[in-house]
Parts: sequence; C-alpha cells; structure tokens
Amino acid sequence: MHIEILTPAQPAAREWLRKPRHQLLINGQWVDPAGGQYLPTINPATGEVLAQIAAADAGDVDRAVAAARQAFDDGAWRNMVPAARARLLWRIADLIDAHIDELSELETLDQGKALYVGRWAEIPMAAEQFRFFAGMCTKVSGDTIPSSINYQPAGKRIQAYTTKEPVGVVAAITPWNSPLIMHAMKLAPALAAGCTVVLKPAEETSLTALRLAELLVEAGVPAGVVNVVTGLGSVVGAALSAHKQVDKVAFTGSTQTGRAILDGAKGNLKKVTLELGGKSPVVIMPDADLDAAIAGAANAIFFNGGQVCVAGSRLYVHRSIFDKVVGGMADIARTIRLGHGLSPDTQMGPLVSKRQADRVKAYIDQAVADGATLVCGGGQKGPAGTFIEPTIITGADPKSAIVCEEVFGPVVVVAPFDDVAEVVAAANDTEFGLAASVWTQDLSAASRLSADIRAGTVWVNCHSFWDVALPIGGFKQSGWGRESGVGAIENYLEVKTVCMVV
Ligand code: NAD
Repeated sequence: MHIEILTPAQPAAREWLRKPRHQLLINGQWVDPAGGQYLPTINPATGEVLAQIAAADAGDVDRAVAAARQAFDDGAWRNMVPAARARLLWRIADLIDAHIDELSELETLDQGKALYVGRWAEIPMAAEQFRFFAGMCTKVSGDTIPSSINYQPAGKRIQAYTTKEPVGVVAAITPWNSPLIMHAMKLAPALAAGCTVVLKPAEETSLTALRLAELLVEAGVPAGVVNVVTGLGSVVGAALSAHKQVDKVAFTGSTQTGRAILDGAKGNLKKVTLELGGKSPVVIMPDADLDAAIAGAANAIFFNGGQVCVAGSRLYVHRSIFDKVVGGMADIARTIRLGHGLSPDTQMGPLVSKRQADRVKAYIDQAVADGATLVCGGGQKGPAGTFIEPTIITGADPKSAIVCEEVFGPVVVVAPFDDVAEVVAAANDTEFGLAASVWTQDLSAASRLSADIRAGTVWVNCHSFWDVALPIGGFKQSGWGRESGVGAIENYLEVKTVCMVV
C-alpha cells in the first residue's frame, strides 16, 4: 500500500489551506462563531490536521437563519428576473469548472477519495447541477384552469390559475461521502426556485462547502441568499431542523439522522426531503456478459471505497456462474491499489475517518465470527487506521447485520440464486429501496426485474450511472422525494391557486 504525506500540488489549494481558521458565512460576511469554538478537520489518509473549521452553536444558526429570512422576505432575490438568476447560476458552474483542480484536491485531502473520483466524476457533476437548474429558472410556470364552479354571480366569469412560488428558507444538510456534489444537488434547484439557503456540511468534510461559498460570493450571489454554518450535526443540524423560521429541510445522510430531522421538523411542520441510506442489490443473470458484469459489480461496490449511497453492497449471482463471478471479483479486489488519494497510482483512498473504518471492520469481523466466509480483504491498514481492503464475503446469514445494514465501506456480500422469483424476493428483502442493478442480455429478464425490484433507480448492464437529468431517491426507508431531474425543482416550490371573479 502506497501511503505518503503529500502536500497539495495546486498553489491555490495550498494557499487556501494556509488560512489558520475557516469562519462562517452569514449575511455575506465571514464571521467567527459566537462561542469562539473551532473543530479540527483531518486528512484521513495520514491523520494530520488540515484546518480548523468553525463549530457553530444554536445562536449562530439563529443569525444565519435570520439572514436567510431577511434575504427571502425582502423579495429582491425571489423576484429577480428569472433570466438574471439563470445567468448567475451559470456563472457559478463556470467558476466551479475554473477551480476544478483545486476543488478536487481539497475534496481528496478532506474526504480521502482518490483524486480521479472528484476530478472526473463528482466536481464536473456539481457544475452540471448549476447549469441544468440555470435552465429551469425560466421554466417555472403554472396552469390556467377551466372552472366548473356553478355559483358564480350572474354576468361574471371565473378565472383560475396556478403560480409557483419559492418555498422560503431552506436548510440544506449534507453528508461526508461526496460533499460538493451533495451541496450542488440542493443549492442549484433551491436557488433556481428563488429560495434562500443555510447550508450545513458534514463536520468531517466542510472544506469544499467553504470554498464553494467563496465562489458563490464571487459569482454575485447576494448577501444572505446562501449562508454556510459549519459544526456538529447534533448542534447545528438539530437547531436547523427544529428552527421555526426554516421552511424546508433538504437532507442527505443516514436513515437514522433522517428520523431525527423529522422529529425536529414537526414543530412548524416544515417541508422535508430525505435522501437516505441504501443496501442496493446487484443481480447477475446466467446469460450476462460476464466480463462486463464482473467489472461492473466490482466498481459498484469499490468505487469511492464503497462510500456511495447506491453502492452495490449485496450481490446475487446465478448459481451456474457463482464461482466464476466470485473468483473474478476477487481477482479485481486483490489488485486495487490503495493509497493517499493524491497519489496518481491510487485507485482507492482511505475511508473518511478512523471511526468509520472501525465501524466497517467491526461489521466484517462480526460476519466472520458468525460463520461467513472471507473470500478476500478484511484488513484495516494505514498510518491512521483508515484504510479497509476491498472485501468479499460469501455464506452470510440473510438476516445478519452485514446483509441487512448499510456498511458504507468496500464490502460486498455475495449469495447464489436459482430463479428469478427467488432473486426478486431476496433483492426486496430489505428496509431500503434506493437502487439496484441487473446484468443480463435477456430483454424479458431485464424488464421483469426492473419492474419487480422496489428501488428508486434500477440500472441494467451498468451501475451508478448518474446524470443531473435522472431523478435519484429512494423507495421505502431510503427517503422521501427525488433529487436531480426536472421534477427536483418542485421540492423548492409551493403551488398557489388564484381564483377570481371578473
Ligand atoms: P449522517 O446522517 O451521520 O450525517 C449527515 C449530515 O447530518 C451531516 O451534516 C451531520 O452533521 C448531520 N447531522 C447529524 N446528526 C444530526 C441531527 N441530529 N440533526 C440534524 N443533522 C444531523 O450521514 P453521514 O454519515 O454523513 O453520511 C453517510 C450516509 O448518507 C449514508 O447512510 C448514506 O447512504 C447517506 N447518503 C445518501 C445519499 C442519497 O442520495 N440517498 C447520498 C449520499 C449519502
């Protein structure tokens, strides 16, 4: 394993990291947290402290929400000509592109991911979110509705129509696995709709949110329209979820935290969208193109160290090809190069933290102690104990934690099946319903499985193919609502009915 302490290559990233402390963005100003507290943010590859980020408290949340409320209520932002708002969003996308190397490098240092994940997948996708929703600004419209009301006054007519208005102040709360794209998936539609936002990034990975905030200011986003409040989820996230002046929470994270957010939100019945956890099944049928399926199933779980909400963490393989697929996956797993994310050789970086690596390792050890077979991997390594080897497990009890719970690491459980009905039942035997993939060349099997698997996305002969135009979100306990796609802007809009007697 190649792990060395690397300093940022890009002068801009190096310069930015020299700042001793990173403050809060409230009402267009960078300010200290009221309590003067800061948290270290750690490079998980090495354990070194990268920077200090502000640890906000409930009073800071009040200030940020007041700024967002004022920027919403004064009307200048929400009533901005849609084409002008579109140009602003497009400028944000251009600034992300212009800073793509710096942003990818910051993401790698903060989160651990191999540089190519940010540089070629996540950061370009973040820019595309702003471009896509820039296009939506000028397309928010209502309907004219013919009315059949029969008590209209004689000689008068009823004219009825709907308009769509921004929902108000949005709290955007995001996780640590893919920070910048998660911020973009909420900020872009919220801003396109005319909402104002308080963004709370995960405490483990706040750096790209803070750098993005600087780019938003540079792009011309008015003061108070976007505020960034860093700090602990139990403090900042909880205060935002419960805040009476917040109209909506847009959350991505674990199912457990999603439930806590719902509890907080009920005080003022704020709107809530939730993008939560998953335990996504991958199904390989006997007729599949095996080279593509094996490589695809390996990528489905090992990309970004398995820290992907749609990771293919349960693999079901037809019994006739089971040994071949498991052997092929193990060959790939054993050759994946682990290392510091900035190293050009690295294919998989560390997990986000020692805590997360310990958690993943405990799942593996428990499965083995319960009698499952470790085909490969299972080791925890590196100077900070944050690397988990790509791991394949067979023979796990279908009711065990490793099969039922979201591990969020590079660990796949593989099981054989004999027929379609059996694999549909197994794939659906989960409280989650985020995504799935099916590998087959048989059109009827593809059609039947994609219809019968209860998940928000089913990929056929691919996995984790993301596009801003494609809605993403979960059935069952994987969430409420969808992000991306034209419909996502509705999460940030209210419908108003106007009915006139004229
Ligand atoms: P998490 O739930 O621990 O934290 C997510 C965010 O919530 C963080 O900003 C955290 O500070 C905040 N938070 C924590 N406690 C809170 C509370 N009581 N009230 C309000 N906010 C609180 O999740 P994580 O560990 O950062 O991320 C991993 C999880 O995110 C996984 O379950 C993964 O599946 C999920 N995820 C889902 C999607 C999706 O689109 N469905 C995408 C990415 C990640």
